[in-house]
Amino acid sequence: MPMIHVIGGGLAGLSAAVESLGNANVRVYESAKSCGGRARSFYDKALDRRIDNGNHLVLSANRATFRFLGLIGACDGLTGPGAPIFPWHDVATGESWVLRLNEGRFPFWAFCPSRRVPGMRWRDLVVMLRLLRCQPDDVVASCFGNDALSRRLLAPFAVSALNTPINAAAASLLKKVVQECLLQGGRACRPFYPKLGLSETFVTPAEAHLALMRAEVRTGCRVTGLQIQEGRVCGLEVGAEVVEIAPDDQIVIATPAPVAASLLQPFWPELTVPDAFQSIINVHFALPTRTTYLGEAGRAGFTGVNGGMTEWIYLKPDLLSVTVSAANCYLTMAQEALTQQIWQEVRQVVQPLTATKLPQDAPQARVIIEKRATFAASVAQDKRRPSTVTPLSNLVLAGDWTQTGLPSTIEGAIRSGVEAARVLNQRRMF
Ligand SMILES: Cc1cc2nc3c(=O)[nH]c(=O)nc-3n(C[C@H](O)[C@H](O)[C@H](O)COP(=O)(O)OP(=O)(O)OC[C@H]3O[C@@H](n4cnc5c(N)ncnc54)[C@H](O)[C@@H]3O)c2cc1C
Repeated sequence: MPMIHVIGGGLAGLSAAVESLGNANVRVYESAKSCGGRARSFYDKALDRRIDNGNHLVLSANRATFRFLGLIGACDGLTGPGAPIFPWHDVATGESWVLRLNEGRFPFWAFCPSRRVPGMRWRDLVVMLRLLRCQPDDVVASCFGNDALSRRLLAPFAVSALNTPINAAAASLLKKVVQECLLQGGRACRPFYPKLGLSETFVTPAEAHLALMRAEVRTGCRVTGLQIQEGRVCGLEVGAEVVEIAPDDQIVIATPAPVAASLLQPFWPELTVPDAFQSIINVHFALPTRTTYLGEAGRAGFTGVNGGMTEWIYLKPDLLSVTVSAANCYLTMAQEALTQQIWQEVRQVVQPLTATKLPQDAPQARVIIEKRATFAASVAQDKRRPSTVTPLSNLVLAGDWTQTGLPSTIEGAIRSGVEAARVLNQRRMF
């Protein structure tokens, strides 16, 4: 059987590997000590907690994600409120509300004051029409108005989904996300997040499934160069070693974009990849006592936050985890000041949700700054995304940065892996 060599063990690479099983032997090369890439968990000694590098939310609309979890037998790895509810708090005004979408496509929720965002009028929905009619070069901000729906729901949703400020983010990317979730109704918008951790949900079960199917995952194994002859890859340089590529073997490059560019540009100078990035900051606060949370936020396990630096707070019994997206603007801020400011926002939002007294000053915290969390989802960067196919006959690309039509997300990464496996399979058949 031919061998499919997958370079990069993030979710795109793992997805390509899982999809290729049965058609070929599979081997994954991952440069880090463990797979998962930008979606991974680890034990933090100082906090004495297992944490994710960053909180990740997926929606029930993410069909490739759920299919992947089904294939690796990990559907029960995600949890959530089981309904399309989104608790929210505005730290500037002190208001709290719960967005309760209805299951079907018609937005009944928009006509019901107790289900929509405060101050919203049903005619604010016209913003959705503007977004659906956006031109390819439009930015998200040009579709929004000063109405409550734009300010209190769509703008924060856009920043989270695209990880880019709305005055720079491509409206076409947001349109695709909105078409796949919000416009499909609440049944496509149920939020999910890992029950235990990202690795426990996505990575360990994928590795176990690959091992069961006799695929090989080589961690701590960095591919440093490609050897090319007659328009195809004939060798992979792995440090001092060269792995020979047999005539029927195929390759998926599923590394981050800059690594793919450095491997390929010597042979393919026209290749463009995204080269501007946005960071995400996560602050994990270790709670001194086990805590339970009340109300809809307690049921959801998270709450959205408007009007401050904090965007999402994940409510765990021993940990409060905060996400700040599109965070390039905070990179020069001192970590102590950042932690204190975020903690004050967290206290304001979370204290009313629990009987446990939260400390005045920030408890022990881990700040994780992922400087290249995602490519900047601007119009210019979106145009730099290559498709799966390359000029090399036995090599394809995968990764959230390839032309998936989606912003940089788990769903985009997994779909890119599926597409890479599909293209390779088709090439083997013809
Ligand atoms: C903090 C944070 C929060 C996020 N939140 C969300 C969210 O809420 N919802 C959502 O859907 N998405 C979210 N994302 C995005 C999501 O994590 C990514 O889109 C996805 O994980 C990307 O997967 P990937 O496989 O394309 O890339 P990566 O995860 O970057 O995988 C690439 C892999 O290649 C390996 N590699 C690199 N060089 C080499 C080499 N030379 N040889 C071999 N291996 C190599 C790397 O070590 C890595 O494991 C978030 C990302 C971050 C960082």
